Order: sequence, then structure tokens, then C-alpha cells
Amino acid sequence: MTPAVPPEDPVARHLLPITASVSSAGALSVGGRDLVGLAEEFGTPLFVYDEEHLRIRCREAVAAFGPGVAYATKAFLCKEMAVLAHEEGMSLDVSTGGELAVVLAAGVPAERLVMHGNNKSAGELVEALEAGAGRIVVDSFDEIERLSRLCAPGAGAVPGPRPLRVLVRVTPGVEAHTHEYVMTGQEDTKFGFSLATGAADEAVSRLRSLPGVELAGAHAHVGSQIFRLDAFAREVAAMVPFVTRHLLGECCIGGGLGVAYLNDEAAPSMAEWATVVRSAFADAELPPGVRVTAEPGRSIVATAGITLYRVGTVKELPGLRTYVAVDGGMSDNPRPVLYGSGYEAFLPREPLSPRAMVVRVVGKHCESGDVLVEAAHVPADLAVGDVLATPVTGAYGYAMASNYNRLPRPAVLFVRGGQARLVLRRETTADMLALEV
Ligand code: PLP
Repeated sequence: MTPAVPPEDPVARHLLPITASVSSAGALSVGGRDLVGLAEEFGTPLFVYDEEHLRIRCREAVAAFGPGVAYATKAFLCKEMAVLAHEEGMSLDVSTGGELAVVLAAGVPAERLVMHGNNKSAGELVEALEAGAGRIVVDSFDEIERLSRLCAPGAGAVPGPRPLRVLVRVTPGVEAHTHEYVMTGQEDTKFGFSLATGAADEAVSRLRSLPGVELAGAHAHVGSQIFRLDAFAREVAAMVPFVTRHLLGECCIGGGLGVAYLNDEAAPSMAEWATVVRSAFADAELPPGVRVTAEPGRSIVATAGITLYRVGTVKELPGLRTYVAVDGGMSDNPRPVLYGSGYEAFLPREPLSPRAMVVRVVGKHCESGDVLVEAAHVPADLAVGDVLATPVTGAYGYAMASNYNRLPRPAVLFVRGGQARLVLRRETTADMLALEV
């Protein structure tokens, strides 16, 4: 567990990327690059990722779960991220044809891919089959139908001599303590086959009857941003009898490990997560030789990323509150609006200063709900023109970004050893106009 720090203190160390350090001038740098300088050079809003942090987290995941562990690309994906996760020994989980295309364009061997999706189109299945995806996670009886048509002798969609390897996604009936929008293991869900009703057993027999299809194992995912590891132990306890009964060779527990977003939050580490999972598998007497895997997303990328904004207006409403408006908002980080998620904010020019003033950080979109931080503690000398940072924005920020109000998506940088490389350029008005017919 990471330590908890009071909210009015400077932003806590455990919310910053691993290579973050304070220069002799008192400013924050990441990967050897001064954040204010990066904002000046590349513009704002800007996502800055600590490459070393990303690599360390990937290595921790491989050390904890072995080489079958997949990075859940939905948390943050671009070609360079796919290359990085692959270089560090992870497989990659994709859940749409778009994610599949990016990962393939990055040159990741298709054998390393796990294809998800609760409503894969026939086209997406064909793309995954033709690429030779290592695993397809089958989610519904309709998908089994689609696969049976695609894999029928003569249908021509399955390349090469090896059978198509699939996992069956089961719903273990576990309610994790997290936001209902990211809770997925309960019975009442659009995902997967219920263990309790026997739907999962039925899916196994149908999949085993398909020629050219090899049922490799079972998959479940109980939710995201989970702090209480007992949810994973309950998930494992529900899955093992199923895996044992059907003599399956693989059991994937999905992702979901939570991260700390606020000074006073503390999250379990990857190793602590794996320890709980492994001991739950041992307690449930998983047969020897069954491959145990996982799919972390958020816990790989969240804390590696910081978003930099420029403060454009400060509006004081005496007796009410102070609004600090930045040049991004719900288009680059929809999580506060979607889930009521909290963030810290700080000034990279003085990360160690006390944050005595409480303000509402808002974006530039045309709605009152466009709030990034409801009640942010910031230094009292914050002023128009400052670069303001929100830490722990590496997961489900850029990945969920939109160009609402026709705001261009921000640029994304990887920084390491004093070098900054642009991995996604800033969207331009011309990019948006290119869609117009
Ligand atoms: N696997 C599946 C099937 C998911 O749906 C998700 C996220 O929703 C993940 C893995 C990654 O979860 P997280 O980012 O919480 O680790």
C-alpha cells in the first residue's frame, strides 16, 4: 500500500511518475524534462508520460503474472505504447477493430493479441481471425453463431494450420466495490456468460463443437478501479470449479487493480494484487498446469501520465467559490463528468508549495458540468497564464478524449532520460475539417 497524505499538503509523491523530481529552482521535471518548459515547447493541453514508469509497471506485471499477462490497451493506446508494452514482454488486449488496427500497425505480432468485445461485428472477427490473433474472448451466443459461420469449412476466414484459440468470458456473480459504470462481474451485466445459470457451461459445449476452434480457457473481469482485493479472491473462487470441471488450460482474471488519484488515497501494488490472486487460486485448488493470466490497464499507465493545462481565467465569486478555467476540460478528461472522479491539481513551477487555496478547476466547454476538479487545493499565488497540472491522468483520459465543441485532441509526449518524443501529435482543425464531405 502507498502512503496517504493530507489533501492540503503539496501533491503527494505517490501520485507522481517514478522519475518525477524537483530541480534546484524548485520546479517539477519528469523524465529529465521540466514540465513548464514542455508546455511552452509543445503547447497545452498536453499529456506527458514518464516512459520509464510505463516500462517499470509493465515489467512488474510480467513478474507478477508471467508473459501471458496482457496490457489492456483501452486505458491508453497509440503505436508507441503498443511497442513499449510488447518490448517489455506483455501481450496486448484489444476490444475493437480500431484498437486491433493500431496494435497491428505498431508491428506487434498478432499471436500476442487478445481480442475482446461484447458485440464484435463479423468484420471485426474476420480482421482478428485473418491477422491470427492469439486469443479471442467469446462473449455471447450470437458471437458463437458468428464464429461458427466464419470458421465453417470453406468460409475461408481462418488462416494457417493452427486452430482459432478462444477463451469463454464468464460472469462470476461478484460485485466489486467500485463505480457501477465500471462494475462488470455481477449477474446483471451485458458482458459474458453467467456461471450461476449454466449459460457458461452451455457456451463451452457449443464452442467445443465448432470445427477449427480450440477452447483454451476462461476469462472474467469484475470491474475497474478496485481497491479491495477480496473481490478478486471471490472471482477466483467462482471461476476455479468451472475451469476444473471443463479441464480448461487457462484462467484470466481480467484487469481492475485500482490506483490512487488523491493525496489521501492508497492503492495496492501490482505485486500485492498478484499475491492475493495466487493465494486464492491455491485455496480453490486450481489444477496444476493451468495458466493464470491478467489484463491490467489503468495500473500500468495511470500514474505515468500528467496533463498540463494553461490557466486562462480566474473568476472569484465572493462567498461562493473561485473558478479556475483551463484550456482543456471534459474533452480530454471525461472521467470527472462520467464517474464523479476526483483529481489533485498543482503548479509544476512550485510542486512543493502548500496548497492553501481551494478552487474549482473547469474547462472551456459550453456546459456547467465541464468540471475537472470539483475542489482543488492549489497554491494561493496561482494566476492567469500559469501551467496547471493534474496528475494520474494516464489512463482513460486521452483514450476517452473527444473533440466536443470541436476542441482538438491534445498532443501526447513520452519523456525519458532528458528526451521528449511526440507519440501522438496535436489534432488540428484541418484534421476535423477532413471529415467533412
Ligand atoms: N479487461 C477487460 C475485459 C476490461 O473490460 C478492462 C477494463 O474495463 C480491463 C481489462 C482493464 O481494466 P483496468 O484498466 O481497470 O485494469
